[in-house]
Amino acid sequence: EHQNYQAPEQALANKIILVTGAGDGIGREAALTYAKHGATVILLGRTVAKLEAVYDEILAAGGAEPAIIPLDMKGATESHYRDMAATIVDQFGRLDGLLHNASLLGVLSPFGHLDLPTWNDVMQVNVTAQFMMTKALLPALLNSEAASVIFTSSGVGRKGRAHWGPYAVSKFATEGMAQVIADEYENTSLRVNVINPGGTRTKMRAKAYPAEDANKLKTPADLMPTYLYLMSDDSKALTGASLDAQ
Ligand code: NDP
Repeated sequence: EHQNYQAPEQALANKIILVTGAGDGIGREAALTYAKHGATVILLGRTVAKLEAVYDEILAAGGAEPAIIPLDMKGATESHYRDMAATIVDQFGRLDGLLHNASLLGVLSPFGHLDLPTWNDVMQVNVTAQFMMTKALLPALLNSEAASVIFTSSGVGRKGRAHWGPYAVSKFATEGMAQVIADEYENTSLRVNVINPGGTRTKMRAKAYPAEDANKLKTPADLMPTYLYLMSDDSKALTGASLDAQ
């Protein structure tokens, strides 16, 4: 069972893995965990100071030197993603893993009160940016002997819920995008799966549930067995799946 997966210490040795939103929350923990298991991680996010802190922590723990890509996915265009992919191919020759983790919650509000700018921002970061990034990185991913792309969904990406507006809609789109790519690349070296983290102690969760006791929630570290399983070659045969990390 992936939730109890125990990764060998060097499960990700020699792998080049890009994590979006690597400066905080679940993405930060995933980047640290992948590095601990031997990967060279590429840290992408919008707040450089946070990425640098993760970089320092990885080096201090004896991990391989990470790369940093400062990028605000709200404003980035196709040419940013093309340049990024070219840099990755130049530097590493390939990409073995891509964790689409960064996303925007937006504003929780009744459907009739949703405003278009918030809608557009959430769709841009959670859907369109992930389309552009994945498309640009396909050649690098196909240079890998076994590439794993992971998208991040949510409970509201499988069943809609009142007031969750564009965030919920964007997560349905995430599940759909993963299925489309998985189907196209079935029987190739590229696999595509989805993780639903479940309620987890992060800033995003606190924004959505300000009154709750965060100490009762799972931490990002608790989710890492599923994140490691899907990134390691032990999940090589799995594609088109949507897993719950808890
Ligand atoms: P956080 O808000 O704690 O972290 C999100 C990270 O994404 C931050 O590092 C943030 O950067 C980055 N990010 C946000 N917007 C952009 C942008 N425009 N460009 C680049 N980077 C950006 O969220 P979580 O760790 O809680 O969530 C991680 C994923 O898990 C998300 O996809 C979320 O939807 C999903 N999820 C989380 C759940 C939970 O309970 N926590 C439950 C279900 C799903 P910065 O540090 O600069 O803010």
